[in-house]
Amino acid sequence: MTRDAARTAMGGSVPTPGIGTWQNTDPQACATAIETAVEMGYRHVDTAQAYGNEADVGRGIAAADVDRDDVFLATKVWIDNLAYDDVIESTHESLEKLDVEYLDLLYVHWPAGAYDPAETLPAFQALHDEGLIDRIGVSNFEPRHLDRARSILDAPIAANQVEMHPLLQQSTLREYAAAHDIELVAYSPLARGAVFDVPAIQRVAGRHDVSEAQVSLAWLHEKGAVSIPKATGEDHIRDNWESRDLELTEADIETIDGIDRQERQVDPDFGPWN
Ligand code: NAP
Repeated sequence: MTRDAARTAMGGSVPTPGIGTWQNTDPQACATAIETAVEMGYRHVDTAQAYGNEADVGRGIAAADVDRDDVFLATKVWIDNLAYDDVIESTHESLEKLDVEYLDLLYVHWPAGAYDPAETLPAFQALHDEGLIDRIGVSNFEPRHLDRARSILDAPIAANQVEMHPLLQQSTLREYAAAHDIELVAYSPLARGAVFDVPAIQRVAGRHDVSEAQVSLAWLHEKGAVSIPKATGEDHIRDNWESRDLELTEADIETIDGIDRQERQVDPDFGPWN
């Protein structure tokens, strides 16, 4: 399939679930996880400059028996690299490490550090105009950052990647995303394991005889979010993939919606909410 045909086939949507790779730092384990996931059917891979594994992720994609053009590949520009020239230079480095000619999605990792909308975003726009990135994304943006970014960019903001799971349900950002046609990509979709111990999730998992991980991912899917669970071994990779077959009932969804907790797993000092 040609690159353009692959893009058309993919349509406007971002494949879900994708596979996350934060802290997948053992080179062989990381490459094998990606190869396993892509061969299983995953069509979305999430990495970042800061994860130090772009080369391993690239090797995993190359090793899989699937065309690169059929995989939706996303990386993120770290907060130290957000001055105009650094965005351009570091993205070229990411492309080299990943060993690909283009990225499907390039995110501003955080509105922090060297982030300056008037300088950072024109560099993303230039990469987009050059065809090196298919879509522009942002991560950890709040509505005020999204408003500003939308006023500067010519291209649409395709995605906002934020922490989201049943313990951090993100209703405000969900509404914003729906109103402005932005994909909400849920990171730490298993709350880094914290959802496994929540009684309401355990009850729903028990009713369907599935894992708590699958319940969390199915709930995110029901909310219209794309999820990117990180998993290393084939058993976790498969368990998460099988969440696609889980249909939650209205009662299940109400149970999970009713979990009234606001628990962030990823909360650095430079987070815009701090
Ligand atoms: P997560 O996906 O919520 O949880 C990952 C943890 O759950 C790992 O310890 C993994 O273990 C385990 N796990 C995965 N599937 C499982 C299953 N089916 N059963 C039991 N345990 C399972 O956390 P995350 O890594 O923080 O988030 C996912 C991805 O989001 C990251 O990898 C990264 O790509 C992205 N992210 C982005 C940002 C950002 O600022 N934009 C921040 C955080 C994360 P194993 O590895 O042993 O399988």
